[in-house]
This record gives sequence, C-alpha cells and structure tokens, in this order.
Amino acid sequence: MAKMEPAAVVYFQGKYVPTEQAKISVMTHAFNYGTGLFEGIRGYYVQDVDNILIFRLEEHVDRMVRNMNILCMEIDETHEQISEICCEVARRSGFREGIYIRPICYKSELSLGPKLRGVESSFCCYVIKLGDYVDIQKGLDVVVSSWRRLSDNAIPSRVKSTGSYLNSSLAATEAKQAGFDEAIFLREDGTVAEGSAMNLFMVAQGKLVTTPPNSDILVGITRNTVIELARDELGIEVIERPIARTELYVCDELFFTGTGAQVAPVRSVDRRLIGAGQPGELSKRLQELYFRVVQGKVEKYRNWCTPVY
Ligand code: PMP
Repeated sequence: MAKMEPAAVVYFQGKYVPTEQAKISVMTHAFNYGTGLFEGIRGYYVQDVDNILIFRLEEHVDRMVRNMNILCMEIDETHEQISEICCEVARRSGFREGIYIRPICYKSELSLGPKLRGVESSFCCYVIKLGDYVDIQKGLDVVVSSWRRLSDNAIPSRVKSTGSYLNSSLAATEAKQAGFDEAIFLREDGTVAEGSAMNLFMVAQGKLVTTPPNSDILVGITRNTVIELARDELGIEVIERPIARTELYVCDELFFTGTGAQVAPVRSVDRRLIGAGQPGELSKRLQELYFRVVQGKVEKYRNWCTPVY
C-alpha cells in the first residue's frame, strides 16, 4: 500500500490517544508470530452531502468478529463497540476525503510460544487517507504467481490474518519486480484462487464466474457486493466454481474486487491480452454501479453506507 497519511488519533488500549503514542512492545505475541487479524474498510467522501460514507461497516465487523473464533480471540470490545470505534476514529480524523479504516485484533500478550488459547488479545483501530489502491481505469497487467495461495488448512485464507499477508507480499513483490501490476494466485491443486489482496471475476459466455468460498480465498465483502449487484441490478448470472488457469487466457473479461482494489479491470494475464485488451463492457458497468452504490447514490443500498459525521 502507498505511503500512509494517518489521522492524529487512534484507538489503542481502550482509549483514543495520539497516534504517536500507540506503540507495542517488541515482545508482543502478534509481532513475533503473526497472530493478529484485521479489517480494511473504506469510507468515501461524498461532496454533495459533505460527509464520509463507510461502506458495509457491519459486514466487515461481522467478518472480523466471526474470524476471531478461528484464532481463539476474546477482547473487551463488543461487536457494537467495534463498529462505534471505527466510526469514532474516522470522525476524530476530521478528514474530508477518502479514508481507510483499519481495526485490528491481535495477541497483545508479551509471551513466548506459538499458541492461541490463553494468550491475551487486544483491539486497536486507526484511520488513514486512501485514494485508489490500484489503477482502475486502464486495465491491469497481471501474472500468475509462482507462489501458491496458502491453503485454508494451513494458514486459514478465510481469516484476514496479519501472518497470512506474507503470502500476499511474496506474490505481489514477485509480480512487481517482473514489471506487472498484480499477481494471481493458484491453489495447490492448480486452480485459480485470487489476487494478492483481491478476489477475481471472469466473464465467459455472458456469465460472471468467480471462485467459491471454499477455494482458499478470503471471502471478500466487495466480491459479495458485486455478486449481488450483478444478479439483482444487471440480471447477470453469477456462477461460483473452480477456475482453471487456462480459462483466464480465453475468457472475455477479467476484473479484481476488493476494498482496496474496488472494481479493477484486468487487461492482460501472462502477457496475453484479455478480450480486446482493455476494460470490458460488463466490468465497466459493474464498476460504475459499484461507485454509485458506495457513494450512497442508489436508494436500495443506502443502508450499506454509514455516515461518519
Ligand atoms: N483477498 C485477499 C487476500 C484480501 O486481502 C482482500 C482484501 N481484504 C480481498 C480478497 C478482498 O476482500 P474485501 O472485498 O472484503 O476487501
């Protein structure tokens, strides 16, 4: 991710404190073993209402709280309090532009040993300014990674855990070093999983195809949003099934989805052009609809947008 422009205040150890005071020890369990999990939540600044709208806050908090069970985490803050803290940190930022909210639950105990049960957990949350994370206009040039997506049975891909981003970092670094914008991970069985920090959709025979929730992916909230919008607003059939690598080369359109990536068309994979080598029609329609929805412009989905101010 690009350079961070943090807000002046974060939530740390049960209080709102100046960002520079929010420090953890070198002995922190999460720092040593990657035992943290987090969310990435976008807030969109909407000029005509002079407000920031947080997109699908409830779904993000819900994913976080459910996944805490996988990492045997218990914290003092309730589900409702986590939502409120996300809003409050955003509010205290005073920002009037696009933001990214990062709530983190982590094993905060200063203790040795890679175990989960009986190790104290804590919650913190910060906010930064964030514009586009990847180019969403030109179409991305992507490469199939030589790194495999981690298996849900090894380091659960379902959990947005801090440790699992080593896997993402390896793939993204390899792709960028080779001159590509992004990577696509395959699974150990050779089928497609997702991008380094985004889910993948393919358009083939007029249908939208994406990998299922049990295919070593992080089940993205943007993914679920796009599935719903495609089905209910554009009347497009959406199929969740395994995708073979070579299907990527012969499909009509490809795009990534993610809180950071938003809806990001792909124009080539492994130097093979997808379709006409530019963002496809359906990708562009979904992208346009997505941006109207996140800005609270579509009445039916206004309840997905939580105002900050
Ligand atoms: N997969 C991975 C590995 C990710 O890091 C992300 C970003 N959170 C996604 C998919 C997309 O998830 P979401 O749409 O919930 O942001």
